Amino acid sequence: MSEEDAGRMSRYTTAYEAMSAKERRRVTLVEYRCRLRGCLLLAVWTGPEGGLVYQPSSRHSPLRNTGQSAAEARAERGASRFPSSTRSIDDPYRWVAPGEAPMSLVTDGDSTSVSCDHVRRALSRAQVVEDVSTARAGHPTTRRISA
Ligand SMILES: [Zn+2]
Repeated sequence: MSEEDAGRMSRYTTAYEAMSAKERRRVTLVEYRCRLRGCLLLAVWTGPEGGLVYQPSSRHSPLRNTGQSAAEARAERGASRFPSSTRSIDDPYRWVAPGEAPMSLVTDGDSTSVSCDHVRRALSRAQVVEDVSTARAGHPTTRRISA
């Protein structure tokens, strides 16, 4: 991603986070939330450049924790957060969030991992594109994701 693109995406992140719940509802197409507590995992909204994928900050490093021990998991909870980010839904090469291991781009470039304290899952771009295709801004579709 060029610096110019990164700057623009960063501004979209700020813009989405600054919206009121009502404003968000007006532009949001699909939300993915954790089934247990309703934490927002990923949202797709209609922005100035079409479908924008917003991912809130996460305490978990995506896709890197398969098979981690309980001790590692506890250590990770004290680690720095992965910042919130935005990317275009139309660009598969930007589908993987900044901060995800480059390895995941190679091995799993068509899915992104979403996480909160209750859920950590891969979410495929194809699934999101399909959900978006039937969604309407103002009536966002909410998908609940189980661990
Ligand atoms: Zn949660």
